[in-house]
Amino acid sequence: MIDLRSDTVTTPSDGMRQAIAEAEVGDDVYGEDPTVNELQERAAALLGTEAALFTPSGTMANQICLHVLTDPGDEVILEQGAHVFNYETGAAGVLSGIQLHPVAGTEGRLTPDAVDAAVRPTADVMPRTGAVSVENTANRAGGVVYSVEEMQALADVARSHDLKVHLDGARLWNAAAALNVPEHALTAPFDLSWAALSKGLGAPVGSLVAGPDPLITEARRARKRFGGGMRQAGVLAAAGLYALEHHRPHLSDDHDKARRLAEGFDALPSFSVDLDRVQTNIVMVETHDRPAEEVAETLADEKVLVTPFGPHTLRAVTHRDVSGDDIDAALAAARSIYG
Ligand SMILES: *Cc1c(COP(=O)(O)O)cnc(C)c1O
Repeated sequence: MIDLRSDTVTTPSDGMRQAIAEAEVGDDVYGEDPTVNELQERAAALLGTEAALFTPSGTMANQICLHVLTDPGDEVILEQGAHVFNYETGAAGVLSGIQLHPVAGTEGRLTPDAVDAAVRPTADVMPRTGAVSVENTANRAGGVVYSVEEMQALADVARSHDLKVHLDGARLWNAAAALNVPEHALTAPFDLSWAALSKGLGAPVGSLVAGPDPLITEARRARKRFGGGMRQAGVLAAAGLYALEHHRPHLSDDHDKARRLAEGFDALPSFSVDLDRVQTNIVMVETHDRPAEEVAETLADEKVLVTPFGPHTLRAVTHRDVSGDDIDAALAAARSIYG
């Protein structure tokens, strides 16, 4: 199988399994797991913050951040394609008593003007706008990247209204690689941000929330409240440390594979790809008159797995477990059926 459904399908490399086997561990609820502590320090250094917190998932990382940055009854502004809005089972309402205010961005990216227009005026009958949430890279928009300046501009408009700012950085490492900037340049404008270890970095589990000491202390309480306090989590943290050290430097290979895949699909008359939006490891393929579900099933028969992402849109994600040869094989399969 050539599995292009997501970068979450990556499995631990041999070196990572070795690191897991050798990890020193302790009880992390007591703060005594040396490998978790090392991972959190490494993350804080990379993300340019005082502290960081290891969480079991990206969804929990998002929900912890929102919980810490808002009060019940608040509203959070985000782009309508945001993961927080579409793929987290309504958790923000359930866990934090807040509501989400989705707005249309430009090509799937939030703009300062859209944020400015969505902020609620002070009025007895209205919710209070509490925070703005930004996703970099923007998954539903096709893995497109916000530049450092764009992130700063969004944070500036939020702060001009006294709002908190949250960064969903599930694929922050990809954004940094694509822009060729350090990750901390992208997290700097935010109160809390997080990045995933379990997507393109290939660790089995985990994300890292980063921010100033007082907010990470609160985040640690929220993690416990949500059931995410882990014990000998050093076996997982060891995978994360290994991923940061050995897998992170190669993320731009995934971007090269995505470009090759995108150009290959775009060259076929049955498909098109907006090549300007292929900036990282995600490729959105338009299937024109053919239903995306049907194309996905046909490709699956040829051992190529992609995700239907809309009635006529497929998503393919490149990652470290698909090679350049796999990309060529996937394109050859598509060409043999649709060429
Ligand atoms: C995958 C993803 C998440 C959630 O991460 P999980 O570890 O799957 O819970 C959040 N935001 C974005 C943009 C994602 O792509």
